Amino acid sequence: MSASRHGGIGMTSQRTRLRMVERLRRQGIRDEVVLAAMGEVPRHIFVDEALASRAYEDIALPLGFGQTISSPYIVARMTELARSGRALGKVLEIGTGCGYQTAVLARLAKEVYSIERLAPLLATARRHLRDVRITNARLRHGDGLLGVPEIAPFDAILMAAAATHVPAALLEQLAAGGRMVLPMAGNQEQRLCVIERTAQGYVERKMDQVKFVPLLPGVE
Ligand code: SAH
Repeated sequence: MSASRHGGIGMTSQRTRLRMVERLRRQGIRDEVVLAAMGEVPRHIFVDEALASRAYEDIALPLGFGQTISSPYIVARMTELARSGRALGKVLEIGTGCGYQTAVLARLAKEVYSIERLAPLLATARRHLRDVRITNARLRHGDGLLGVPEIAPFDAILMAAAATHVPAALLEQLAAGGRMVLPMAGNQEQRLCVIERTAQGYVERKMDQVKFVPLLPGVE
Protein backbone atom coordinates (compact mmCIF):
# COMPACT_ATOMS: atom_id res chain seq x y z
CA MET A 1 0.00 0.00 0.00
CA SER A 2 1.69 3.17 -1.13
CA ALA A 3 -0.42 5.25 1.25
CA SER A 4 1.27 3.66 4.27
CA ARG A 5 4.74 4.00 2.76
CA HIS A 6 4.22 7.66 2.02
CA GLY A 7 2.07 8.42 5.00
CA GLY A 8 4.83 10.23 6.87
CA ILE A 9 5.34 10.08 10.60
CA GLY A 10 1.70 9.24 11.34
CA MET A 11 1.77 5.92 9.52
CA THR A 12 5.33 5.18 10.53
CA SER A 13 4.53 5.66 14.19
CA GLN A 14 1.39 3.53 13.88
CA ARG A 15 3.51 0.66 12.57
CA THR A 16 6.08 1.29 15.28
CA ARG A 17 3.30 1.27 17.84
CA LEU A 18 2.02 -2.09 16.62
CA ARG A 19 5.55 -3.47 16.99
CA MET A 20 5.57 -2.08 20.54
CA VAL A 21 2.28 -3.88 21.24
CA GLU A 22 3.74 -7.16 19.94
CA ARG A 23 6.73 -6.67 22.24
CA LEU A 24 4.40 -6.01 25.20
CA ARG A 25 2.64 -9.28 24.42
CA ARG A 26 5.96 -11.13 24.45
CA GLN A 27 6.82 -9.42 27.73
CA GLY A 28 3.68 -10.96 29.24
CA ILE A 29 0.95 -8.31 29.00
CA ARG A 30 -2.25 -10.29 28.41
CA ASP A 31 -5.13 -7.80 28.74
CA GLU A 32 -6.33 -7.10 25.18
CA VAL A 33 -8.09 -3.90 26.27
CA VAL A 34 -4.79 -2.57 27.64
CA LEU A 35 -2.89 -3.69 24.53
CA ALA A 36 -5.46 -1.94 22.31
CA ALA A 37 -5.12 1.30 24.30
CA MET A 38 -1.32 1.12 24.08
CA GLY A 39 -1.68 0.66 20.32
CA GLU A 40 -3.90 3.72 20.01
CA VAL A 41 -2.14 6.39 22.10
CA PRO A 42 0.66 8.09 20.12
CA ARG A 43 3.44 8.01 22.71
CA HIS A 44 5.76 10.19 20.59
CA ILE A 45 3.39 13.15 21.10
CA PHE A 46 4.07 13.00 24.86
CA VAL A 47 7.87 13.11 24.78
CA ASP A 48 10.24 15.91 23.90
CA GLU A 49 10.58 16.31 20.13
CA ALA A 50 14.27 15.43 20.30
CA LEU A 51 13.33 12.06 21.87
CA ALA A 52 10.35 11.27 19.62
CA SER A 53 12.29 8.67 17.60
CA ARG A 54 12.91 6.70 20.79
CA ALA A 55 9.37 7.01 22.14
CA TYR A 56 8.39 3.40 21.36
CA GLU A 57 11.49 1.74 22.76
CA ASP A 58 11.08 -0.03 26.06
CA ILE A 59 12.84 2.63 28.07
CA ALA A 60 11.96 5.36 30.54
CA LEU A 61 12.60 8.82 29.06
CA PRO A 62 13.38 12.14 30.75
CA LEU A 63 10.50 14.61 30.77
CA GLY A 64 12.19 17.56 32.44
CA PHE A 65 12.46 18.72 36.07
CA GLY A 66 14.31 15.50 36.94
CA GLN A 67 11.19 13.41 36.24
CA THR A 68 10.79 10.45 33.88
CA ILE A 69 8.02 8.98 31.76
CA SER A 70 7.74 5.27 32.56
CA SER A 71 8.63 2.65 29.95
CA PRO A 72 5.77 1.25 27.84
CA TYR A 73 6.00 -2.07 29.72
CA ILE A 74 5.55 -0.42 33.13
CA VAL A 75 2.63 1.70 31.90
CA ALA A 76 0.96 -1.40 30.42
CA ARG A 77 1.68 -3.53 33.49
CA MET A 78 0.30 -0.97 35.96
CA THR A 79 -2.78 -0.47 33.81
CA GLU A 80 -3.34 -4.23 33.53
CA LEU A 81 -3.02 -4.67 37.29
CA ALA A 82 -5.36 -1.74 37.96
CA ARG A 83 -7.96 -2.99 35.51
CA SER A 84 -7.85 -6.64 36.46
CA GLY A 85 -10.21 -7.42 33.59
CA ARG A 86 -12.94 -5.02 34.78
CA ALA A 87 -14.46 -2.01 33.06
CA LEU A 88 -13.31 1.08 34.96
CA GLY A 89 -15.48 4.05 35.92
CA LYS A 90 -13.56 6.73 37.81
CA VAL A 91 -9.79 6.40 38.04
CA LEU A 92 -7.30 8.52 39.98
CA GLU A 93 -3.70 8.99 38.93
CA ILE A 94 -1.02 10.55 41.13
CA GLY A 95 1.84 12.08 39.13
CA THR A 96 0.56 13.22 35.72
CA GLY A 97 4.05 13.87 34.35
CA CYS A 98 3.73 14.24 30.58
CA GLY A 99 0.22 12.79 30.59
CA TYR A 100 1.00 9.55 28.73
CA GLN A 101 -0.27 7.16 31.40
CA THR A 102 -3.27 9.49 31.81
CA ALA A 103 -4.05 9.09 28.10
CA VAL A 104 -3.80 5.29 28.23
CA LEU A 105 -6.12 5.23 31.25
CA ALA A 106 -8.54 7.62 29.54
CA ARG A 107 -8.92 5.08 26.69
CA LEU A 108 -10.26 2.44 29.03
CA ALA A 109 -11.89 4.28 31.92
CA LYS A 110 -14.94 6.49 31.92
CA GLU A 111 -13.19 9.36 33.65
CA VAL A 112 -9.62 9.96 34.80
CA TYR A 113 -8.56 12.42 37.50
CA SER A 114 -4.85 13.11 37.56
CA ILE A 115 -2.87 15.18 40.07
CA GLU A 116 0.58 16.66 39.48
CA ARG A 117 2.63 18.73 41.95
CA LEU A 118 4.81 20.50 39.34
CA ALA A 119 2.82 23.25 37.58
CA PRO A 120 4.96 23.44 34.40
CA LEU A 121 4.62 19.69 33.81
CA LEU A 122 0.87 19.94 34.27
CA ALA A 123 0.63 22.67 31.62
CA THR A 124 2.55 20.51 29.14
CA ALA A 125 0.42 17.44 29.96
CA ARG A 126 -2.75 19.47 29.29
CA ARG A 127 -1.39 20.42 25.87
CA HIS A 128 -0.47 16.81 25.05
CA LEU A 129 -3.92 15.53 26.01
CA ARG A 130 -5.56 18.25 23.92
CA ASP A 131 -3.32 17.32 20.97
CA VAL A 132 -4.55 13.71 21.10
CA ARG A 133 -8.15 14.87 21.69
CA ILE A 134 -8.69 13.27 25.07
CA THR A 135 -11.64 14.90 26.81
CA ASN A 136 -12.36 12.56 29.73
CA ALA A 137 -9.26 13.42 31.80
CA ARG A 138 -9.40 16.09 34.53
CA LEU A 139 -6.01 17.43 35.54
CA ARG A 140 -5.25 19.13 38.85
CA HIS A 141 -2.32 20.96 40.35
CA GLY A 142 -1.86 19.67 43.88
CA ASP A 143 -0.39 17.16 46.29
CA GLY A 144 -1.61 13.76 45.14
CA LEU A 145 -1.32 12.32 48.64
CA LEU A 146 -4.59 14.03 49.48
CA GLY A 147 -6.44 12.48 46.54
CA VAL A 148 -9.73 14.02 45.43
CA PRO A 149 -12.18 13.27 48.29
CA GLU A 150 -15.12 15.07 46.66
CA ILE A 151 -14.91 12.79 43.60
CA ALA A 152 -14.08 9.51 45.41
CA PRO A 153 -14.60 6.57 45.47
CA PHE A 154 -12.35 5.45 42.60
CA ASP A 155 -12.35 2.05 40.89
CA ALA A 156 -8.60 2.30 40.54
CA ILE A 157 -5.79 4.51 41.85
CA LEU A 158 -2.38 4.55 40.16
CA MET A 159 0.69 6.18 41.60
CA ALA A 160 3.61 7.08 39.32
CA ALA A 161 6.06 7.94 42.11
CA ALA A 162 7.49 5.71 44.83
CA ALA A 163 6.15 6.01 48.39
CA THR A 164 7.63 4.64 51.60
CA HIS A 165 4.17 4.03 53.07
CA VAL A 166 0.70 3.68 51.60
CA PRO A 167 -1.07 7.05 51.82
CA ALA A 168 -4.07 6.59 54.14
CA ALA A 169 -6.25 9.19 52.41
CA LEU A 170 -5.91 7.28 49.14
CA LEU A 171 -6.87 3.95 50.71
CA GLU A 172 -10.06 5.58 51.93
CA GLN A 173 -10.85 6.86 48.44
CA LEU A 174 -10.73 3.39 46.91
CA ALA A 175 -14.13 1.88 45.99
CA ALA A 176 -15.05 -1.56 47.34
CA GLY A 177 -13.52 -4.01 44.87
CA GLY A 178 -11.20 -1.22 43.73
CA ARG A 179 -7.45 -1.56 43.23
CA MET A 180 -4.54 0.69 43.94
CA VAL A 181 -1.26 0.12 42.08
CA LEU A 182 1.85 1.85 43.37
CA PRO A 183 5.62 1.50 43.60
CA MET A 184 6.63 0.98 47.24
CA ALA A 185 10.15 1.89 48.27
CA GLY A 186 11.86 -0.51 50.67
CA ASN A 187 15.39 -0.29 52.08
CA GLN A 188 17.12 -1.74 49.03
CA GLU A 189 14.59 -1.87 46.23
CA GLN A 190 11.20 -0.76 45.00
CA ARG A 191 8.37 -3.15 44.24
CA LEU A 192 5.11 -2.66 42.43
CA CYS A 193 2.34 -3.19 44.93
CA VAL A 194 -1.33 -3.98 44.34
CA ILE A 195 -3.79 -3.22 47.12
CA GLU A 196 -7.32 -4.46 46.70
CA ARG A 197 -10.18 -3.18 48.82
CA THR A 198 -12.46 -6.07 49.71
CA ALA A 199 -15.53 -6.22 51.94
CA GLN A 200 -13.23 -7.48 54.73
CA GLY A 201 -10.49 -4.89 54.33
CA TYR A 202 -7.37 -4.41 52.25
CA VAL A 203 -5.34 -7.16 50.61
CA GLU A 204 -1.81 -6.30 49.54
CA ARG A 205 0.35 -8.13 46.99
CA LYS A 206 3.94 -7.38 46.07
CA MET A 207 4.82 -7.73 42.38
CA ASP A 208 7.65 -6.76 39.99
CA GLN A 209 10.79 -4.94 41.06
CA VAL A 210 10.68 -1.39 39.64
CA LYS A 211 12.47 1.97 39.65
CA PHE A 212 10.42 5.15 40.07
CA VAL A 213 11.17 8.73 41.08
CA PRO A 214 10.23 9.44 44.71
CA LEU A 215 6.85 10.79 45.75
CA LEU A 216 7.39 14.32 47.09
CA PRO A 217 5.21 16.43 49.38
CA GLY A 218 3.71 19.83 48.54
CA VAL A 219 3.45 21.64 45.22
CA GLU A 220 5.83 23.70 43.09
N1 SAH B 1 2.87 8.75 34.57
C1 SAH B 1 3.81 9.79 34.28
C2 SAH B 1 5.09 9.57 35.04
C3 SAH B 1 5.59 10.81 35.65
S1 SAH B 1 6.95 10.62 36.80
C4 SAH B 1 4.02 9.90 32.79
O1 SAH B 1 3.46 9.09 32.05
O2 SAH B 1 4.70 10.81 32.34
C5 SAH B 1 6.16 10.91 38.35
C6 SAH B 1 5.45 12.23 38.51
O3 SAH B 1 4.92 12.27 39.84
C7 SAH B 1 6.34 13.46 38.37
O4 SAH B 1 5.82 14.30 37.39
C8 SAH B 1 6.29 14.11 39.77
O5 SAH B 1 6.34 15.52 39.74
C9 SAH B 1 4.94 13.61 40.29
N2 SAH B 1 4.77 13.61 41.75
C10 SAH B 1 5.66 13.24 42.71
N3 SAH B 1 5.12 13.38 43.94
C11 SAH B 1 3.83 13.84 43.75
C12 SAH B 1 2.76 14.18 44.62
N4 SAH B 1 2.86 14.10 45.95
N5 SAH B 1 1.59 14.63 44.07
C13 SAH B 1 1.46 14.72 42.73
N6 SAH B 1 2.44 14.43 41.85
C14 SAH B 1 3.61 13.98 42.35
